[in-house]
Amino acid sequence: MADKFDVVVIGAGPGGYVAAIKAAQLGLSTACVEQWLDDDGKVRLGGTCLNVGCIPSKALLDSSQKFVEARDHFELHGISVGKPKIDVGAMLARKEKIVDQLTGGITGLFKHNGVTSIQGRGKVLAGCKVEVTDKDGKTSVIEAGNIIIAAGSVPVSIPPAPIDGKHIVDSTGALEFDKVPKRLGVIGAGVIGLELGSVWARLGSDVVMLEALDSLLPMMDAQIAKESGKIFKKQGLDIRLGCRVTATSVEKGKVKVTFDTADGEQEEIFDKLIVSVGRRPRTEDLLSSDCGVNLDERGFIYVNDYCATDAPHVYAVGDVVRGPMLAHKGSEEGIMAVERIVGKPVQVNYDCIPSVIYTHPEVAAVGKTEQELKSDGVAYKAGVFPFAASGRALAANDTDGMVKILADAETDRVLGCHIVGPSAADLVQQVVIAMEFGSSAEDLALTVFGHPTLSEAVHEAALAVHGQAIHIANRKSRK
Ligand code: FAD
Ligand code: AMP
Repeated sequence: MADKFDVVVIGAGPGGYVAAIKAAQLGLSTACVEQWLDDDGKVRLGGTCLNVGCIPSKALLDSSQKFVEARDHFELHGISVGKPKIDVGAMLARKEKIVDQLTGGITGLFKHNGVTSIQGRGKVLAGCKVEVTDKDGKTSVIEAGNIIIAAGSVPVSIPPAPIDGKHIVDSTGALEFDKVPKRLGVIGAGVIGLELGSVWARLGSDVVMLEALDSLLPMMDAQIAKESGKIFKKQGLDIRLGCRVTATSVEKGKVKVTFDTADGEQEEIFDKLIVSVGRRPRTEDLLSSDCGVNLDERGFIYVNDYCATDAPHVYAVGDVVRGPMLAHKGSEEGIMAVERIVGKPVQVNYDCIPSVIYTHPEVAAVGKTEQELKSDGVAYKAGVFPFAASGRALAANDTDGMVKILADAETDRVLGCHIVGPSAADLVQQVVIAMEFGSSAEDLALTVFGHPTLSEAVHEAALAVHGQAIHIANRKSRK
């Protein structure tokens, strides 16, 4: 192994592995240091996203949704399959196979592109050096022309609910229950809590979600959050707002959870408890005190708009820096950092990053919410189209939700799109592209959309911005 590289990346999640592949593609000698080990003691690439995050959660969400389809919806289509049964072991094995395939795929891409993969824990030293401690505790030092830190994040733990891995678990444990818990508690009704709570609720768990805040999904557009809450309730998720968990105890294999509410202290007993109260940047033992990289007041690595840290030639990307904790955000930052290393002034458009909650239906958003526009004093117009009026949604028996488009009242420029509905993740991407190209609502309205598609709901919402929707009775556009 060479002991000097043009680029050394620390962490092989979607921030790090994408940066490493990009750097190698641009002809830079590149190494990627990753500490994660698989069961055979070999380095495991892919980070949180591929191993215990985006991919395994979506695998279980898709499996459990198919179960719901078979149990609750097939009959409507005239298909009888009897009462479906769930084999949790087989479901988890399918998930693992997908994870193995994708992480192995990154190993293959590293080989193909000539990225040197190094197992070990990386630490940034002064003078653009990286100290690597391997699984046997052996330490070596690599010199780097440039360093990209992509160390990611870990689940936040709260003192009232310490993770024991058996009864009280974090998101990783919640991907591995060997049977469907009869009664499942979830602390935190954020993105991860809603996704993992949905998986087990669909399979038959009686799910209670305890959320400290008084409103659901406050970062989403309020109308979409309210509509989503109604849909989740209809699906049987018992989401209790204004409930702050203060204590837990495990007795006779059950978890007792105590929480404060407006009506005083309450208790619930669960078979399993998921703690999903957010994630924090992983910076322990990552930076030597003299390396020149600083943290911000929230404990993230401080970077400028282009992901440069305070130390020359040291960049940081992904969950370890400010901004939404999303895989695609980290990947784009990784590419930007590499392009900047070779002198290309690439910029990430932070105003145009889509975010999705993979419930069914999905909740997806890009750009400003209505409440943000109001508080910023921006004059806007809103167009809303319900999926109940979409022929394609009706054909698919998937009519919950709506598309909402927000446009500047003066320029008509699209400022945001918020969707709860079938395939919202893919639909919102159409508006991301439109916004990236500086589209007006009229541009979208004048675009030809195929029929019958769910995308037509985006088209109609754009038309509705100017009160010109065809397939609903137009209201006066709201200001
Ligand atoms: P990570 O993926 O956390 O990777 C960091 C890597 O660095 C890890 O492999 C770690 O072992 C390694 N590392 C850390 N420190 C060191 C060190 N000192 N030396 C060597 N290696 C080190 N995001 C989405 O966009 N869409 C989703 O649908 C989605 N679903 C999610 C579901 C769940 C259950 C969870 C937990 C997360 C989900 N996320 C999702 C978030 C997403 O996983 C993260 O935003 C993303 O993985 C961050 O990428 P990253 O490269 O910054 O860090
Ligand atoms: P997210 O950051 O999207 O994963 O959401 C985490 C959620 O957990 C937030 O909505 C928090 O308000 C919530 N939360 C944090 N601590 C507690 C607690 N002690 N009890 C209940 N909910 C909590």
